[in-house]
Amino acid sequence: MPPTKPKTPPKTNESKLAKLGLRTDMDLVLHLPMRYEDETVVVSIREACLRGGHVSQVEGVVTKNEISFRPRRQLLVTIADASGDLLLRFMNFYGSQVKQLAEGTRVRARSELKHGFFGAEMVHPTYKVINEGAPLPTVLTPVYPSGEGLSQAILRRSIADAMKRIDWRDTLPPALREEMNLSDFEPSVRLLHYPPQEIDAHALVERSHPAWIRMKFDELLAQQLSLKRAQRARRVKGAPVLKAIGDLSEAFLGQLPFKLTGAQQRVLREIRADLKNGYPMQRLLQGDVGSGKTVVSALAAAQAIDSGYQAALMAPTEILADQHFRKIAGWMEPLGVKVAWLTGSLKKKDKLAATALVESGEAQLVIGTHALIQDTVQFAKLGLVIVDEQHRFGVGQRLTLRNKGSNGKTPHQLMMSATPIPRTLAMTYYADLEVSVIDELPPGRSPIVTRAIDQNRRDEVIERVHAAALEGRQIYWVCPLIEESEALQLQTATETHAMLAEALPDLQVGLVHGRLKPAEKQEVMDAFTANAVQVLVATTVIEVGVDVPNASLMVIEHAERFGLSQLHQLRGRVGRGSAASVCLLLYQSPLGPIAKQRLMTMRETTDGFEIARRDLEIRGPGEFLGARQSGQAMLRFADLETDQWLVEQARDVAHQLIHDAVDDVVEAHLARWLGGKEEFLKV
Ligand code: ADP
Ligand code: MG
Repeated sequence: MPPTKPKTPPKTNESKLAKLGLRTDMDLVLHLPMRYEDETVVVSIREACLRGGHVSQVEGVVTKNEISFRPRRQLLVTIADASGDLLLRFMNFYGSQVKQLAEGTRVRARSELKHGFFGAEMVHPTYKVINEGAPLPTVLTPVYPSGEGLSQAILRRSIADAMKRIDWRDTLPPALREEMNLSDFEPSVRLLHYPPQEIDAHALVERSHPAWIRMKFDELLAQQLSLKRAQRARRVKGAPVLKAIGDLSEAFLGQLPFKLTGAQQRVLREIRADLKNGYPMQRLLQGDVGSGKTVVSALAAAQAIDSGYQAALMAPTEILADQHFRKIAGWMEPLGVKVAWLTGSLKKKDKLAATALVESGEAQLVIGTHALIQDTVQFAKLGLVIVDEQHRFGVGQRLTLRNKGSNGKTPHQLMMSATPIPRTLAMTYYADLEVSVIDELPPGRSPIVTRAIDQNRRDEVIERVHAAALEGRQIYWVCPLIEESEALQLQTATETHAMLAEALPDLQVGLVHGRLKPAEKQEVMDAFTANAVQVLVATTVIEVGVDVPNASLMVIEHAERFGLSQLHQLRGRVGRGSAASVCLLLYQSPLGPIAKQRLMTMRETTDGFEIARRDLEIRGPGEFLGARQSGQAMLRFADLETDQWLVEQARDVAHQLIHDAVDDVVEAHLARWLGGKEEFLKV
């Protein structure tokens, strides 16, 4: 079946519809109602009055029509039927309406019925002028998700028109529909737009009606098909074959001051196997904060270097990139590896020197920030791309780095994240990723105790900070997040720093925030690492990756303003050494229900997977993914929580269709559901 040619809806409302993403006829037809109004029944005015409070539809003839000016200008229309009369009150109205509702006109009005000062009335009812004996609709009236300036009337008409024009052919072969027990496409769509009055309303609202199931299945299938195609497209690309586990890898392992955990060894084996393949690896290395991902990625880099290729490691912040540089260069340079450092803040001259090293291939390993993906940076022989804290980068940024391969070879890609992806999301949005999980922390870590404390007990907390510092421990003091204003956030950080410096005169208190120049930031971080500074006041710039094992107390102010994963990331800065660590969450009461839930979760668990699961529960997948992650959320109808079983079915069917190369079915289905919008967003 050829894909239907997109046709544009009528000119006048085109842009408003486009704003809702409704550009083609098929877009309109697949814009399904969020609820319905029942206009299939008329009750007598008397009965409507008796029922009170509910929404009713009545029919009557206008007996009075007047504009009143007290207390404000309004149109008052009285209608009557055999059982009684009723006032319709319009606060905003057009002159045309006054004429339209002239005495003697027959109208059907539908609204909630109120008992006002002058008896029963409807305020701003929806109404229709009709002829006597006009038949009642036999189907429910759809109410569509709408946008600014777009009335239901326009949406209803545009959608009804589009339904006349589209190609209704079912994209799924009859045998498949039968096997999966799926309703047919056309009747399902028609039913959802115009359900018969006697439909099971519950099944409609809950979206468990077979018609809804068909829609959700189709949607999920389209998603799975596009993922599978992305995967196949990747597999036919050539990648450098990184075979050698050679001298560097051996020497590197030999000189590590610790032994890899079992989990690290396992994921390393998985990565090593991938790198030997002739097609690009796309692997996500997941491990809770502090689980030791960096060393695993360095070993992957060693394999690339041993095989004569370059590796690049990109981190989202200067602080983190710098830390990686020091740590990894500290491991590798003594073994004769040339490591280049590249960030946006380098002086022009240094940057040029660094890019020259990268371009000539002299630098075997390159570590840096977004600066790595600039056009001016060209690699001689890029074999492996490592992206740390991958969720901090946009899809486009990751792609750009991956596209820096040479000789038509796509480099392997290793992404790292401490934010675990719940299973349902992994199966849908990230289905084209292999996932390795480090599910074991290095030995000798002691658990972090987390407590929530009311802000007004700050003095006690400062006491505690003092005591900890005197015991030789180090402390992070995280300033509140002020999303609306960076300036205000900065001010708060500066004030907090001044306050703590005054309260703790015998300690060195440092300050680090996003506005500091990289060199200044570095100076503070160095001082903290060397324990020349005991208390580090910080904004969320320390959220990711920072690793100072001697820090074992963390105070987070206004913890109620942070999201769960952010709190978890922050807390992960402590508990890295052998000392028992404590995290104090200061909050401002009263706490809202969501904030309360978050703080409770933080107290109850330090397990990143559990936290991610609860985060998903509290926020829902859309927000969990974030615009950054998903590009555009593809799922409108299916719910990853409740429709897990459908996800699995769709995945199996997609696999089958692609495997059997039923290309026309695949094409038609993708054209219908993604209409050319198919994005290869899972990279
Ligand atoms: P993350 O997974 O959060 O990126 P890191 O890679 O920064 O964690 O590792 C956290 C700390 O643990 C680092 O100081 C690192 O050197 C150390 N580490 C990593 N692996 C081990 C291990 N097997 N045994 C002991 N310490 C380890
Ligand atoms: Mg890390």
